[in-house]
Amino acid sequence: MLDRAQRVFDAPNSFQNFIAGRFVGAEHGDTIPRESPAHGKIVSYYPASTRTDAKAAITAARESFDAGTWAFSYGGDRARLLQEVARMIRRDADELALVEALETSKPFEAARGEILFSAELWDYAAGAARALHGDSLNTLGASMLGLVLREPIGVVGIITPWNYPFLILSERLPFALAAGCSAVVKPSEFTSGTALMLGRYLKDAGLPDGVCNILSGLGDPVGQTILDSHDVDMVAFTGSTRVGRAAIAASAGNIKKLSLELGGKSPSVVFADCDLDAAVDGVIKAATVNMGECCIAGSRLLVQASIADEFQNRIAQRLQQVQMGDPFDPASRIGAIINRAQFDRIAQMVRDGLASGARLVCGGEPGHNAGLFFPPTVLADVTPDMRVAREEIFGPVLSVMSFERLEDAIRLANDTEYGLAAYVWTNDLTKALSCSRRIRAGRVWVNAALEGYPELPLGGFKQSGNGRETGRYGIEEYTELKSVHLKVGEQTERWVEGA
Ligand code: NDP
Repeated sequence: MLDRAQRVFDAPNSFQNFIAGRFVGAEHGDTIPRESPAHGKIVSYYPASTRTDAKAAITAARESFDAGTWAFSYGGDRARLLQEVARMIRRDADELALVEALETSKPFEAARGEILFSAELWDYAAGAARALHGDSLNTLGASMLGLVLREPIGVVGIITPWNYPFLILSERLPFALAAGCSAVVKPSEFTSGTALMLGRYLKDAGLPDGVCNILSGLGDPVGQTILDSHDVDMVAFTGSTRVGRAAIAASAGNIKKLSLELGGKSPSVVFADCDLDAAVDGVIKAATVNMGECCIAGSRLLVQASIADEFQNRIAQRLQQVQMGDPFDPASRIGAIINRAQFDRIAQMVRDGLASGARLVCGGEPGHNAGLFFPPTVLADVTPDMRVAREEIFGPVLSVMSFERLEDAIRLANDTEYGLAAYVWTNDLTKALSCSRRIRAGRVWVNAALEGYPELPLGGFKQSGNGRETGRYGIEEYTELKSVHLKVGEQTERWVEGA
């Protein structure tokens, strides 16, 4: 794969927008160059779309939805098209993973795994397109039949971040399309390649022009134009809490529906009775997967006091075996951080933690020659008031706290403004179920970390967002319910007496 990467360094990829069924550059032809964070070489050019481009994409989506060709199409036809896209994703998995690994610096094999899982999501959404239905009520009396129609919500704006570019898009777009919606997609300015490649698959699979439009560009103007538009009925936004708040403010304009997946500070809760080997591995995976740039990263370790010292030492020892390096080295588990700003933020947070009394167990800020590679870092003696215990770091940094009893563990786990995920390690069923039921988070893993299934919904409690993606609930998010009151038989009652 390194030789194919080398070819991209020599001749970077150049992508186009997909608007109204056509592949086009940005209004003024401007582009955004993207450097591979691990190699410091330009690998991609994306269109630097303008407000005018965004409006054109929204208009195309609006017209296609209002025409009704896709919205009223047979679910079986929508299913076949989505399955065809899934087939193309699998066919091109290496190519998609190459682009993703170059733009994000995540290990190539991890990128490939995400692409193949994305194909599963397109397949699942295909099945959901056939299964989606409303309801009927035959209980309203002899002369009234109630129908509950489940209709596509309309034009959906999908704004995605840089950490899992194709996967996060695939958790949303196929479900919106399965429901019969039209879409405008804006990927991150740092990792737009695979989203823009998707346009070709949708076109070749036969999606009617305008149903899905994909354009790259900066958050403002492109994302902001989508948020502000009165022609957009819903926005599915994934990213920072800061922009999530801006989305809520902008949604007031036309009361558009929002689905938000925002930050997290998820706990790994480790009880003394757990399988320690499995827990050490799972805690490391949850904290360092995707270089810790993961909304559901297990970034807080809450460990029972009786095993705390032993457990954090074992974590530190095992982390020495985690290889960090070139995304195309098959041994690499950890690649480079997405960009200099994010790298500096991680370093600053670690410094802040140490200054406020945390103890460095391993890792820490690397030297100047390290490029954008940040080593897995464990901070012990963390207290709940420290920034490293409260704020999302989005890097491979684990903040360790300890607890005595189950009640303390649950209180600490919930002592956060976020609620995306939690990981629980115990062989005691009561503890497992108590944590699962009482930790306020959208996803809980028990004796496992990060294994995902298209069937299960995902999303956040509290300031981690609202709405759910994937699974049966995911497709329903992109629909509206309509009640039809259907009078049957002869009408004898009159509202105006004597009429
Ligand atoms: P952002 O929220 O800025 O980016 C997410 C998406 O929103 C990108 O496509 C971005 O565009 C877009 N965007 C930015 N500004 C606007 C706007 N005014 N209107 C509409 N869309 C906009 O996240 P960052 O990339 O800056 O990451 C910052 C932090 O957010 C991270 O450190 C992490 O804590 C958190 N984060 C959480 C993620 C999650 O999965 N929950 C994912 C990524 C980040 P563009 O980037 O192209 O300018």
